[in-house]
Amino acid sequence: MTYLEDPCSCQMSPIDMQSSPVDEEHRKYRKLSFWHDSVPGALLPRLGLENNIEVDIAIAGAGYTGLWTAYYLKRLQPTLSIAIIESEIAGFGASGRNGGWCSAYLSGMEKALAQPALADAAIRLQRLLFDSVKEVGRVTALESIECHFDQSGQVEAAILPAQLQRVREHVDFMHGLGFGEQDFRWLTSQQLREHINIDGVLGGMFMRHCAAIHPARLVRGLADVVERQGVKIFEQTPVIKLDQQGFTTTGGRVKAGVSVLATEGYTGSIKGLGRKLIPVHSMMIATEPLSELQLEQIGLHRRHVFNNLDHLTTYGQLTADRRIAFGCRGSYLYGSRVRSHFDPADSEFDLVWEALLKFFPTLRGSRYTHAWGGAMGVSRTLSPCVCFNKEKHLGWAGGYFGNGVGASNLAGRTLADLILERDTDRVHTPWVNPERARELDKKLWEIEPVRWFGINSRARLMQLADWAERTHSSAAPLINKALDTVFP
Ligand SMILES: Cc1cc2nc3c(=O)[nH]c(=O)nc-3n(C[C@H](O)[C@H](O)[C@H](O)COP(=O)(O)OP(=O)(O)OC[C@H]3O[C@@H](n4cnc5c(N)ncnc54)[C@H](O)[C@@H]3O)c2cc1C
Repeated sequence: MTYLEDPCSCQMSPIDMQSSPVDEEHRKYRKLSFWHDSVPGALLPRLGLENNIEVDIAIAGAGYTGLWTAYYLKRLQPTLSIAIIESEIAGFGASGRNGGWCSAYLSGMEKALAQPALADAAIRLQRLLFDSVKEVGRVTALESIECHFDQSGQVEAAILPAQLQRVREHVDFMHGLGFGEQDFRWLTSQQLREHINIDGVLGGMFMRHCAAIHPARLVRGLADVVERQGVKIFEQTPVIKLDQQGFTTTGGRVKAGVSVLATEGYTGSIKGLGRKLIPVHSMMIATEPLSELQLEQIGLHRRHVFNNLDHLTTYGQLTADRRIAFGCRGSYLYGSRVRSHFDPADSEFDLVWEALLKFFPTLRGSRYTHAWGGAMGVSRTLSPCVCFNKEKHLGWAGGYFGNGVGASNLAGRTLADLILERDTDRVHTPWVNPERARELDKKLWEIEPVRWFGINSRARLMQLADWAERTHSSAAPLINKALDTVFP
């Protein structure tokens, strides 16, 4: 048993010591993740909607997508009236509980870069994503959002020959497109160990366009900033239905000139949208704060974020208070059920801990103090998009899979451009209004049980591919081929 209960005592306010229904609520939200537990201030809901309202722009969901969209709309046109309708509290979803990698990665990007017809536009999009990491740093500094932003970069480690080949091919591919050493740099095992001492590492890649952040500080800080700009945030008010005139919510009707859907993994909670984006869960743990000696042993001197090239995604960061926050694994629940609350003592988290020990065996004997999970939104194309339908007065962005921290900033800026009809570089990129995803009802997920069977078969095949590569099985290339062919 490697879980040790340890609330972040640094954050205990008088409210934590009392016990009224309000305090209960605050505690419930604190328990969502290490990040919620360590974010300053009380996690008390703002007022809910209690009557019908009319605004220029209505946004469903107070995560990064909804908040960045509101932020840039207000910067560009301060007179706009904007309401954000949130079913719980700002940052309840993935934005409050993710791995804190603010990266320039976009799911499905390699596919776009590899298509000759799309490559030029995809390269522009990739450069805009590089800039988005800087933009998050710029705005958080400007608005005094203390989210521990640290652009030390990403270290990707290959620990198996097959992984080494994949990373080498990736670096060569990106260089072939005109990106330079300053963007994607090949690392020998010795060079990689100068950044971080990952067990058994054979080599890897360094990518400087990536920052470590405290996710809940970013989303909660952003909510406060947009509120100061004059945006109304209504919390604990689920949107039930969406139409061309606005939202129907549990608290009243929201009539809007433009409606924006920013509910990501929870989109299925809105009538008729159950097959648009589905929730896939990722699981995380945070260790107790590490000692100087432990940090010395794992060789992390800066806050690089790190991962390896297993098919089953892994992601870690050193937090500002010297813990390792680490995540991996994914699960899809039958019928697109969303799981928001997790029991940290559940043995399922020991598997995440074991995955972390593969990186740093010297951590064996220490403990993790927090464990949680969250829902990522996945579209049927497995790629995110930013869409705006002028005739239907409807915008939406999402489907980031596990890569929305940096991308949602670009999505918010792009949605603001589209809504205000600004002809910027951003609106001419391949993820904007892609042909088949323009309408909310196109490119839907299969019905159950086909959906459950397909997603879980893919996950099993990925596990099998990792196993085959680890055991140097001659079947590994065949399994990888099957993965690429059956689930491209
Ligand atoms: C465990 C985990 C780790 C991750 N790690 C990373 C990472 O390191 N780097 C990275 O780039 N990405 C990561 N991601 C993905 C990233 O967090 C998301 O892509 C991003 O936060 C999406 O932001 P969003 O605003 O679109 O969605 P969310 O943050 O999920 O916001 C949606 C909001 O809508 C609200 N809502 C739901 N239903 C309704 C309704 N009916 N009416 C009104 N409101 C509603 C929710 O309460 C929520 O607040 C991770 C995700 C998870 C779960």
